[in-house]
Amino acid sequence: MLPINRQQKLIEWLKEEGALRIADISARFGVSEMTVYRDVNQLAKTKQVIKTSGGIALAENSSLPAANLCSYCLKPVNHTYSVQLITVGQEVEQLCCAHCAFLRYEDKKEEVSHLICKDFLLQTTVSAASAVFLLHAELDLHCCQPQAIPFASLDHAERFQKGFGGTICTFGKALEIILNDRQKGCACTKT
Ligand SMILES: [Zn+2]
Ligand SMILES: [Zn+2]
Repeated sequence: MLPINRQQKLIEWLKEEGALRIADISARFGVSEMTVYRDVNQLAKTKQVIKTSGGIALAENSSLPAANLCSYCLKPVNHTYSVQLITVGQEVEQLCCAHCAFLRYEDKKEEVSHLICKDFLLQTTVSAASAVFLLHAELDLHCCQPQAIPFASLDHAERFQKGFGGTICTFGKALEIILNDRQKGCACTKT
């Protein structure tokens, strides 16, 4: 059995049984505990399982899309522009960029507690509600269009705008514009 098949089987068992002991897994597969640990580490790295003393359990969020894919457009998440969406149930979703964050927010508004963006210049985290967004700037980030670039400080956004153009908006206004662009048929690559 290939490691990938064992890992799939492990997830199946965990879904049925909740938790498993390393010794039991090793006996079921007829492989060494070393091998089991290697599989488990792989699954733990992708946050599908959590390690417990002497065993493993299913990670609570394992039913969500893989942690490194945008939950709106399913593109791989580049951490420079990524936005996290926190639901009222404390689940965390990753979005590739603010564009997808706005659209995802619109899809599940009632469930959203807050959105966490990264300031484009300083990479500090900022809540979307208090950030400003530069829309339609002439700088292609190679993510989704139309772009919305988050800034924690209006001053920084304005200086950036001097060089790259675009429109500075608050969260509410940016959402309105992005939804409007979507109606016109935006170039977002949602699959
Ligand atoms: Zn996306
Ligand atoms: Zn994107």
